[in-house]
Amino acid sequence: NATLYIVATPIGNSADISLRALHLLNLVDAVACEDTRNTAQLLTRYGLHKPLIAAHQHNEHEVAAKIISRLQAGERIALVSDAGTPAVSDPGAIIVDAVRTAGLRVSPLPGASAAISALSASGLVNDQFYFVGFLPAKAGQRDSVLQGLLQVPASLIFYEAPHRIIESTQALLNAFGGDRRIIFARELTKLFEEIHRCTLSEAATWLAQDSHREKGEYVLIIEGASSNSSDDELEAKRVLTILLSELS
Ligand code: SAM
Repeated sequence: NATLYIVATPIGNSADISLRALHLLNLVDAVACEDTRNTAQLLTRYGLHKPLIAAHQHNEHEVAAKIISRLQAGERIALVSDAGTPAVSDPGAIIVDAVRTAGLRVSPLPGASAAISALSASGLVNDQFYFVGFLPAKAGQRDSVLQGLLQVPASLIFYEAPHRIIESTQALLNAFGGDRRIIFARELTKLFEEIHRCTLSEAATWLAQDSHREKGEYVLIIEGASSNSSDDELEAKRVLTILLSELS
């Protein structure tokens, strides 16, 4: 029966795909994917050959219309992204919205997610988390998003574009001050996986210790605001951190 299946794929280690995902990818009529070359490689690794539909951030509206008419004709379609769970900081949400609006069935096949993997290995005991995803690239917008997060008591999860890690870590230090803990989850499930926990004041030193750390795929987690810190205290700490960094 006509369904759009949202299928999670690996975030590094190619074995991190579920048996159900492989079974379903073998069964569907077509696979909508972010990058056809990338998905063709994944399918070939598992001996699968399927018609692919390119569905990236620039054509989601048109592709949604095509997928809807194929589903209405009774087809089953899988949606995958380049890595991890589609539609979360990845293309797919517009297609899912359109398919649901058309009254058609959408069903998820769970699997790898960089955010949840990082959180599970963070050792942060607080069960609440707030998924921020990618921060805006422009410094002004980024800083105002960070200001809005200062009081959130949940662990804050960020995705980071490769090559921006040093700048973003500095922005996090300026916003949150040096005392909160940060978790760097780098290259998860890959050969050079590293998960490091330190305070924000120690973060720049850790990054500088190994030049490989300047790039790579990172999830960053910042410990949530402690319930007893008042607005004034937070602001005083933030200003103090900036002043201290100017002095050094
Ligand atoms: N949809 C994906 C998911 O479920 O995790 C995320 C895709 S998003 C475009 C890519 C970002 O996810 C990267 O910039 C990085 O922040 C994070 N990421 C993906 N794979 C990762 C990995 N193996 N290790 C650490 N972070 C990763």
